[in-house]
Amino acid sequence: MRILDILYQHKLKEYEERLRQLTDPSIVYVTDLTSCSYKRFYRIHYPHLSFKFEPSLVLGDLVHMGLSTLVTSTGEWRSEVEVRRSFDIDGKRYTLLGRADLVQYSGDKPVHVVEVKTMKESSLSLPLEHHELQLQVYMNLLGVSEGTLLYVAPDTLVEIPVHFRELDLGSMMEETVYMRRAPRYGWECRYCIYRKICPIPRRRQEPRHEAS
Ligand code: SF4
Repeated sequence: MRILDILYQHKLKEYEERLRQLTDPSIVYVTDLTSCSYKRFYRIHYPHLSFKFEPSLVLGDLVHMGLSTLVTSTGEWRSEVEVRRSFDIDGKRYTLLGRADLVQYSGDKPVHVVEVKTMKESSLSLPLEHHELQLQVYMNLLGVSEGTLLYVAPDTLVEIPVHFRELDLGSMMEETVYMRRAPRYGWECRYCIYRKICPIPRRRQEPRHEAS
C-alpha cells in the first residue's frame, strides 16, 4: 500500500465514522458556536461537500498526532478530550460537543487546556479572534482558568496564553441553532466551502432612498 493510500484511507475513515453525527440536527459542535451559523445548516444537509483531502489538512493531522504522542507521554496530559453538555432550547434537546486538543490534569481535575493551530503562513496578529473564542468555550465547558493557543507554522512556534472569560453558552447555542450569525465574521464567506450554494454573500444591499 502506498503512503498516500494510507493517508487518504485514514482521512476517509475518520469522515465516514463521523458522518452520522455530522448530519444529526441535535448535535452542535464547539466550532459551530464560533463560526457562521449557516455552515452548520449546510453541513447537516450536504455533508459530502465538507470532505476534503488537502495537503495542509494532512499536515495539520500529522502535527496533532505527533504532538499528542509526545505530550501525553509525560503522563500529565490527555489528548482529544471529548467535552459535551446538553441544552434545552424551546423544548428540544441539543448536545454541545467538542474535542479539546490537549488537556493537562492534576489528578482527575482538568487544569489547563491547549488548542493547537497549524497555519500555512505565519500571521503577526495572533491570536485570531475565533480561535480565542473556541478555546474560551472549552475553558467554560471544562471549568479551567488556564488556556493556551499553540500556533505552528513553518516560521512560527508560539504559545499564547488566553484568559478565562465567562461565556453565556446557552445564548450562543440559541444563536447557532436559530442561525442568527451568518456570517459571524466579515472574512468568512471568502474562505467558505459553501459559498457557491449560499445566497447570503450575493444579497444586494437595498438602495438607500433619500428623504424628499
Ligand atoms: S458563504 Fe458566508 S454566509 Fe454562507 S455559509 Fe459560508 S460563511 Fe456563512
